Amino acid sequence: MPSVTLITGGLGFVGSHFVWAAAREGRDVVVLDDGSAGTSPELPEGVEVVRGDIGDRATVGSLIRRRGVDAIVHFAGKIQVGESVTNPALYFDVNVVRALALLEEARVAEVPRILFSSTAAVYGEPEAVPIPEDAPKRPVNPYGASKLTFEHALEAYGRAYGLRWAALRYFNAAGADPSGKLREAHDPETHLIPLMLDAGLGRRPPLTLFGEDYPTRDGTCERDYIHVVDLASAHLKALDRLAAGHAVGPLNLGTGQGSTVREMVDEAERVLGRAVPRSVGPRRAGDPSSLVADPRRAEEVLGWKAQRSDLPTLLEDALRSRT
Ligand code: UDP
Repeated sequence: MPSVTLITGGLGFVGSHFVWAAAREGRDVVVLDDGSAGTSPELPEGVEVVRGDIGDRATVGSLIRRRGVDAIVHFAGKIQVGESVTNPALYFDVNVVRALALLEEARVAEVPRILFSSTAAVYGEPEAVPIPEDAPKRPVNPYGASKLTFEHALEAYGRAYGLRWAALRYFNAAGADPSGKLREAHDPETHLIPLMLDAGLGRRPPLTLFGEDYPTRDGTCERDYIHVVDLASAHLKALDRLAAGHAVGPLNLGTGQGSTVREMVDEAERVLGRAVPRSVGPRRAGDPSSLVADPRRAEEVLGWKAQRSDLPTLLEDALRSRT
């Protein structure tokens, strides 16, 4: 029987890029999304989109059976660090309670493999960077805690029920499809790259740099920005590895190179050819000072390497998608 992959959160930023990457390889996919990202990206023709909640087991179960789903790529979830600090109930509900309903329905329906969209936030404030997968996991915000909880469930399901799984821990997903067809858009937008590019384009208020007293080279937070197209290709490789009968487990998806907020703004100004209006504000709750991946395990296990994640390419792609 041909393989059918269920993509939860396929209307989101990373999810929609994955849908395109999968479709370009001729893979059969179906999207489940509740529309809560507030975006409606163009998807390839013929891709079925079911509007529904991952926690609605009747919907999930009937979709899996009707389409003969044999793999799930689970992107759907809440993703804002700051919001998770003020509204943890929402994060534990969506990222744990509802996600566990999806996982349990997948078990009952005998879906053999699942790929989970996880995050560097599981590490919290790291002891050292770059961060390998076996570094201590001590999340410093409810977002990271909720993602780590679901990873624990996957691990237990793997041991007990033979589920094959991968948890792909994204560092900072960024960039956009080079076609300009898709773009990073969240409602409300809280992410650095869209906010700083739009500020530079005069479409949004000046950027606020969240803190300049971190223990980094210029005092602003350091992150490892990874192009969404590179993320998508890692997912395809991870799916293939699971389909070939291998265990994958947790993998860091990043470049191994960190950039500070100031360095990002400088590069954005170069790419834009104009200044990004900005001011410095207080720290944002829940932000670790530095998150940089050690991506060697992903590179070895998947035979993958980031290709478009150098800052000029990444920001040029992001800018193209916004103009
Ligand atoms: N950031 C900032 N101003 C903003 C948005 C983000 O200074 O308006 C900083 C934020 O503190 C973090 C980095 O940019 O250090 C990346 O934040 P983003 O929200 O894009 O991703 P996150 O790291 O939360 O996944």
